[in-house]
Amino acid sequence: MKWHSEADVVVIGSGATGLPAAIAAREAGNSVILVEAQPHMGGHAITSGGNVPLGGGTSAQKKYGIADSPDLVFQDLTDWSVVQPNGAPDYRYNDREIVRAFADNNVSTYDWLLAHGVTFADKAPDERGGISVGNSVPREMHAVPLDWPLAHTGKPVDPAVRATYSIGAGLMYPLIEAARRAGVETLLEHKMTAIHREDPASGRVTGIEVEHRGTRLSIGARKAVIVGTGGSIGNVNFRRMFDPRLTEEYCGLAGMPWSDQDASGEIAAMAVGAALWGLFNQTGEFGYAITKAGRIGCQYGYQHLNWQPDSKVFDKARATGLFVSDWQNAIMVNMLGQRFYDETGPAFTSNNYNGVKAYVPGSYLNARNVAYNPNNFLNAAMAGIGDGHNGGGPIWAIFDSEAAARQKWVPEPPFVDIDSGFFFSANTITELAAKIRMKYQRVPMPPEKLEATIARYNAFVDAGTDADFGKPKPLYKIATAPFYAAWATPVLHDTRAGVRINAQCEVIDMQGDVIPGLYCGGESAGGFSQHGLARCVCQGLIAGRNAGA
Ligand SMILES: Cc1cc2nc3c(=O)[nH]c(=O)nc-3n(C[C@H](O)[C@H](O)[C@H](O)COP(=O)(O)OP(=O)(O)OC[C@H]3O[C@@H](n4cnc5c(N)ncnc54)[C@H](O)[C@@H]3O)c2cc1C
Repeated sequence: MKWHSEADVVVIGSGATGLPAAIAAREAGNSVILVEAQPHMGGHAITSGGNVPLGGGTSAQKKYGIADSPDLVFQDLTDWSVVQPNGAPDYRYNDREIVRAFADNNVSTYDWLLAHGVTFADKAPDERGGISVGNSVPREMHAVPLDWPLAHTGKPVDPAVRATYSIGAGLMYPLIEAARRAGVETLLEHKMTAIHREDPASGRVTGIEVEHRGTRLSIGARKAVIVGTGGSIGNVNFRRMFDPRLTEEYCGLAGMPWSDQDASGEIAAMAVGAALWGLFNQTGEFGYAITKAGRIGCQYGYQHLNWQPDSKVFDKARATGLFVSDWQNAIMVNMLGQRFYDETGPAFTSNNYNGVKAYVPGSYLNARNVAYNPNNFLNAAMAGIGDGHNGGGPIWAIFDSEAAARQKWVPEPPFVDIDSGFFFSANTITELAAKIRMKYQRVPMPPEKLEATIARYNAFVDAGTDADFGKPKPLYKIATAPFYAAWATPVLHDTRAGVRINAQCEVIDMQGDVIPGLYCGGESAGGFSQHGLARCVCQGLIAGRNAGA
């Protein structure tokens, strides 16, 4: 290969995995090039809630008298006996080697973050924001933004909450600064398109191919390449290997449009022989892989991310969405205008400290102590209309002007996205159904069906019972014009399966052998069913240290 540039270590992605990896490799004396597909850094991590579940006996846990240890973290995250209320198991399919490495590195990762400028709220670790982080003790720490601007607002927070408000900007801006200080060479708008290996199926990984504003460049890696590309749930064909239902209409990925999870890391690694790992963790019905829309009338309706007009990416997000605090104010219908579930029904859940009452590690009684709740809202939303298609199609929240007043919704831009077809309004139900035309609405909504659905629902309000889906005492009729239809299709969130790695975050091939010079961590790595930042930062550090050694 003739390289356009070269470094000891090349890192792909500037998120929760890539930045720690790049800094660690650089601080070990290596030259480091970090490539980032977007014009800005931080990945989904900078849009995140900044809740970081690191335990194992951190100084914060000790300060507040919480007894934890690496062994307890390991035991928690491999406990076969923990199940969700819908019966889905959280931890039993985790790879023991990968979880052991995580458990053993929790404390050092926490200390490393402090040493690299991250400030956590000065309070006892809790369980707030945690998803699949173990049941024994509280471990959740909260990165605070101080004066950094937030990705979704483009502004700093009110000074009164600068040291208490948990947000990903508080984690990632200090790391961006630390990378700059350390001398990591960062190339924005450089999208990795391929990984080079001496031979397609053997030998060392030697570098990567990137695309930069229409130009292809080759970057050589003298020691190693680290994949920190953030997962695959944004790639329709890739995610359908896990769940065939997840067709194109699931276009409202959490964290988008700041960055995507397009499986480019997984695909490039697989092209040089990498295996995938822990695939049940992607399909299992727990946590946030698929979530219920919390904001309606916009493409990106993740409940905890509210894109504001001053955000750098608002031109792509196009609307803030209407936050639904009470689903009594709307019904949800499928493409045919039919209801399918109790709208107040929950999404999938996850385990955390206190998630299982009377928790006894490894005891079959844990499952018996969880009140069974089939919790099928998302499956009902994705059931489709019986026309042979795999995807469930769009889900629309239907409400009237009185509901908008009760929820204090302003049904116009910038709150809703009318131009791209994620929000419609009309003076009659018939007219509203006829207006619902957009690229994912495969069939027209029959006006008479929507009329009938609303008439039946209004009768349930009169009767005080939802005879079809058991919505707890339906409260409000849909009767006062104008009427609205707002996009409320399930939102995809995290990736929990990916490239096979070992404890050193080296990538493993289909024969079970290490691919020399290739490392991976975070949401692009498989074998570890835990949402979020802690595993990504921890694996980033492991990968960076080993790659640079
Ligand atoms: C709204 C939201 C809230 C969240 N809140 C929390 C929370 O409170 N606590 C928690 O633990 N977790 C949270 N998470 C999850 C957490 O943010 C992610 O798990 C974590 O950021 C994943 O880290 P990563 O390094 O794998 O990917 P990312 O942080 O997404 O970084 C991946 C980076 O790689 C870049 N990239 C991708 N492909 C390429 C390519 N081909 N070439 C170059 N660059 C590429 C991307 O643009 C991106 O910048 C949240 C996520 C979201 C979206």
